[in-house]
Amino acid sequence: NSLLSTEGARPVRADRGPALTCKSWETEAALRMLMNNLDPEVAEDPDHLVVYGGTGRAARSWAAYDALVRELRQLEDDETLLVQSGKPVGVMRTHPYAPRVLIANSNLVGDWATWEEFRRLEAEGLTMYGQMTAGSWIYIGTQGILQGTFETFAAVAEKSFGGTLAGTITLTAGLGGMGGAQPLAVTMNEGVAICVEVDQARITRRIEHRYLDVQADDLDHALALAIEARDARRPLSIGLLGNAAEVFPALLEREAPIDVVTDQTSAHDPLAYLPIGTAPEDWDTERGEDPVGFTKRAQEAMAAHVRAMVEMQAGGAEVFDYGNSIRDEARKGGYDRAFEFPGFVPAYIRPQFCAGRGPFRWVALSGDPADIAATDRAVLELFPDDDKLRRWLTMAGEKVHFQGLPARICWLGYGERHLAGLKFNEMVASGELKAPVVIGRDHLDCGSVASPYRETEAMLDGSDAIADWPLLNALVNTASGASWVSLHHGGGVGIGRSLHAGQVCVADGTPEAAARLERVLTNDPGMGVIRHVDAGYDEADRVADERGVRIPMARG
Ligand code: NAD
Repeated sequence: NSLLSTEGARPVRADRGPALTCKSWETEAALRMLMNNLDPEVAEDPDHLVVYGGTGRAARSWAAYDALVRELRQLEDDETLLVQSGKPVGVMRTHPYAPRVLIANSNLVGDWATWEEFRRLEAEGLTMYGQMTAGSWIYIGTQGILQGTFETFAAVAEKSFGGTLAGTITLTAGLGGMGGAQPLAVTMNEGVAICVEVDQARITRRIEHRYLDVQADDLDHALALAIEARDARRPLSIGLLGNAAEVFPALLEREAPIDVVTDQTSAHDPLAYLPIGTAPEDWDTERGEDPVGFTKRAQEAMAAHVRAMVEMQAGGAEVFDYGNSIRDEARKGGYDRAFEFPGFVPAYIRPQFCAGRGPFRWVALSGDPADIAATDRAVLELFPDDDKLRRWLTMAGEKVHFQGLPARICWLGYGERHLAGLKFNEMVASGELKAPVVIGRDHLDCGSVASPYRETEAMLDGSDAIADWPLLNALVNTASGASWVSLHHGGGVGIGRSLHAGQVCVADGTPEAAARLERVLTNDPGMGVIRHVDAGYDEADRVADERGVRIPMARG
């Protein structure tokens, strides 16, 4: 983060409770969520305004942050604030049903969409990296990814291990904002996980938050702990301090009995991946002094890391790319077999996208965990027949440590999300919840992303790189009246590799909010159904027919 200034840095914490500091709940919600993204309990590096995912930021600078706060406090019900890569650039007269904030982050014209050009512009203070939910103010800490990771490992268990990871060992790396969810997602599926991480502070933090069970002294200790727990079919997650580019090949060499392999280091950004031979304490200086040389060394290290993954697959392990672009970086590092294992979306998640299923998340602006417990119960009552949902919500209620404002996530599909949104709005209106609720999602969703190494990898009709879909998604959410809408480039997999959109709505208990929620939470997942019908998926055709999604040129 040496490029980024900490001038003006200070601890930030969102207000809690039912008192407004802005002129409406929509702007109050945007303000609290901006602040919540930067809460030291939530953000990975708040002084640099970094929320998660390498350098994913909530605002371009502390001066821009101050201006955002000031504008949100003044914004009227018929005004819309425009945010360009983390900086407020205009306030326009619109109308009450328009979004209060429109955000565009990190977008570059195709031929210029490289890390090199992006970094040049970032250093000039002209842009920032918004990741997915960092620059769109709806990050909810590690829980956000925990649910998706839980779903993915559940699908791995279903596909290859009879529905449970009990009796298996999973190897992965990276215990950052997203990657920190992996150990708990594996143990929630009853398995054993070895998680390699170069930064001791990240290991300590995940243990404190109870996402990680123990830390091993060294590689032999990690293996001994893992094998003992596996043989007892006892869930256990083990942190191991080390560089994955060295530890993965060492485990391969020892023929360690690894059943599942993935990775969640910040591989999408080679400056955020530690090469072999650099000590963690020299990381900042070395990448600042020679970004080009550092990138080359990081890519070479990723080549060694991925080579070990490919060879573990050849030895019978279930191996997948968990959405960080490590295969492409390894390819650039000179390893030409990197794409021999699949990405997790085509391997496990696409059938859910066909049904408009994806991450649905909400945040209690009251700050009271009891509000989340009440909404958990409401969701279970709405969808009593969904066993996986019940398993997840029950475990989440017991195990999830809230970071910042209390929040919850679960995956819901087309025809379901709006029912939950309307129910929460009723609960706010009746006083059952102590303050309004914010409802949003990750940009990683069924119809909101073009990302050929992740969400749209290996589409049936070859349309992986078509980026009209996230643009239509942002437009339809704007037309439907979401409270804030964002359109980003480069999240998840890095600059040049993705375009994606997000929306957030506020349930403040009013009939106007109910109308918005019904429209947005129907149309937004509806994009997932039409995107997959268009690409030729039978499952999406079936969902469209059954649930009445109008698609002018559907095959059926
Ligand atoms: P982060 O930057 O917070 O954490 C990355 C971690 O990797 C850090 O703790 C870092 O110390 C560690 N690391 C770096 N180099 C290492 C090495 N050589 N060996 C071992 N550890 C190393 O990032 P994050 O938010 O956890 O995200 C991780 C990756 O996952 C990113 O590339 C992100 O874009 C991607 N991602 C995936 C999904 C998904 O759904 N699959 C969602 C969001 C993000």
